[in-house]
Amino acid sequence: MTAVSPRSTPATDGVDDLFWQASYSPISESDAELERVARSAELPVLLVALAAALDDPSILSEELRPPLTPMDTAPVPHGGMTPQQQERAIDVALAGLKRLRDEGITGVGVLSDERRLELLGFLSGGRDEWADMLSHELALAPAHGGKPDWRVEEVAPDREFPVLVVGAGVGGVAAAYRIAQTGLPYVHIEAGGALGGTWAKNTYPGVRLDTPTFGYSYSFAQRGDWPHQFAEGGEIADYLNEVVDRAGLRDAIEFDTRLSRLRWDDADGVWEATTIDRDGVEKVRRFAAVVSGLGLLDRPHIPEFEGASRFHGDTMHSQEWDHGVDLTGKNVVVIGTGASAYQIVPAIVDQVGSLTVFQRSAPWMLPAPNYHDEVGEVFTWLVDKVPHFAQWFRLWVILTGIEGRAHTVTVEDDWDGAPLSISRKNQELRDYLTSRIEEQLESRPDLLRIAIPGYPPGAKRMLRDNGVWARALLDPKTTVVTSGIARFTETEIIDGEGVGHPADVVIYATGFRPSEFLEAIEVTGRGGVSLHQFWAGNARAYNGITVPGFPNLFLIYGPNVGGVVQGSLHFMIERAAEFAVKSIREVLDRGATGIDVRPEALDRFVDYVDAGSRRMAWGQPYVRTWYQNASGRVTAIWPYTNIEYWELTERVDPTDHEFLP
Ligand code: NAP
Repeated sequence: MTAVSPRSTPATDGVDDLFWQASYSPISESDAELERVARSAELPVLLVALAAALDDPSILSEELRPPLTPMDTAPVPHGGMTPQQQERAIDVALAGLKRLRDEGITGVGVLSDERRLELLGFLSGGRDEWADMLSHELALAPAHGGKPDWRVEEVAPDREFPVLVVGAGVGGVAAAYRIAQTGLPYVHIEAGGALGGTWAKNTYPGVRLDTPTFGYSYSFAQRGDWPHQFAEGGEIADYLNEVVDRAGLRDAIEFDTRLSRLRWDDADGVWEATTIDRDGVEKVRRFAAVVSGLGLLDRPHIPEFEGASRFHGDTMHSQEWDHGVDLTGKNVVVIGTGASAYQIVPAIVDQVGSLTVFQRSAPWMLPAPNYHDEVGEVFTWLVDKVPHFAQWFRLWVILTGIEGRAHTVTVEDDWDGAPLSISRKNQELRDYLTSRIEEQLESRPDLLRIAIPGYPPGAKRMLRDNGVWARALLDPKTTVVTSGIARFTETEIIDGEGVGHPADVVIYATGFRPSEFLEAIEVTGRGGVSLHQFWAGNARAYNGITVPGFPNLFLIYGPNVGGVVQGSLHFMIERAAEFAVKSIREVLDRGATGIDVRPEALDRFVDYVDAGSRRMAWGQPYVRTWYQNASGRVTAIWPYTNIEYWELTERVDPTDHEFLP
């Protein structure tokens, strides 16, 4: 092997990534070992990582460009490269790995603008219109991410502008990070005793991500050494804690402090916020702006069943798991078959004495054989030794998720398969997923009869399947009941056919009340108008962020921004935080007290998202899903790609807003 003389440290000025790694382990493996790596790697990612680290775009020849074949159920390996492309790419990657080794390259620096566009153009198969949005996610891009390009002491040194950030989950932490970067003073409150939001609260057995881990992190905190392909709940809570500590945000958090009331003071142009601490003590403080990071899937939905109050056993909602209750040998009843039940049931089936699952609708499940797997040995090697490989992989997950699986759940005009499917593609998906269920349950016709959903794939959240759900249902201890719940007795749940099911413990995996945004908070805006009266059960916000009449109030993960078949949640959340920061900047620049979105701008946004959802499986009139509110309007989901959201939130359009003096 040639002697190694390490290169000078690459330039990393302006990188906004709390997990930035300046130097990677040197490569010492033989050519044969490197070939094994090249043969097992996701090739577009490895090629682009090598092109960046070697500063050699000639690696990315036109003939190797991945076609980005759309994914029907799971990402297509290598972006759909042909076998010939793959063979050629392996040769190129192997040569690149040898060069990394032989030239002693252990780091990578910020890309030139030209190089950024070349690399992104390669990965995106030439979709140049994606480049700006993708650059937001690429720590190596010269103006990466949403870091504000201003500090308050520069733009408004004499202005007092305290901000309240509510909630320390994924949304609140993103908001606090961006607000802190502006230098604005802020108070950060969290109703619970721990940070992490949903990932602190949901500790039920089996809890883990149902989207790929590498798509589930902040652009400003690109952790590389994730252990699992689909992270366990505790791993995400740990990550959020780590982010907060690395960013120095923890000391600003007031735990056990709940927001109860927000009142806009018209005379002074400020929000008056009432909070209640763990001892029940109320505090009233005034803020120039409020950023709410309150979650969507946060308020448990516990249906009322006759006799439930006289039940003698233990009951718990999936989000309020009581770890003091030992399920060993007990008769356990699980109500619901959504994403939470899907994880709980397989995790407890071996422990319990009997398991009764009340299913109202069967779930659709996408094949994910690797659902419980750790990341592989080669992947770990690449993360350790190829500069920025993990971050390029993260970008790849986000990039391939831009269009995601949307084409499988988009309505085809004149399709006559309703209510079971909405297009030819959707019917094909239905047939494929049905055949998998048939394979899994062929030994039990009774289960098979009730396991095929009666609605189109994609109308509700689809689950990730590695076979554990079917195995749990097939277990002799398990009974699946579809006749509904007639009533509870002290010791049994009586089903719709009058059959009693013994119950020591009842687990409500019955979901949340996602349409009731900010439900627990009394909010009054300009002229004393109540937010909840304005919404009247139909939550609407411009870009999912602002509501007319409620100036300087910004919702992170508000109505109509959730992605289900495409897009990155963290991207949507970060963009909302950035939009809040940009709006505040407009207020400061104008010497105004507030920014208030115009009603007609909100109406336009609502028409836009409603039109989008009408084209998707979940927007069909015969479908019922938590994506919709009580009157059937879809309030939870963003029906477009991250690119459209990028464009909408890129600037604060003054014509859509009123500035208050
Ligand atoms: P969910 O998807 O709303 O599921 C609730 C389940 O309870 C459904 O099967 C529902 O039946 C049933 N149910 C509701 N009311 C009922 C009643 N009165 N009688 C009988 N059954 C009733 O809730 P979830 O499972 O907690 O999941 C909510 C969302 O959280 C997911 O869609 C996902 O976005 C997120 N989540 C994510 C993860 C993850 O990433 N790992 C894990 C868990 C949850 P119907 O289907 O008929 O309404």
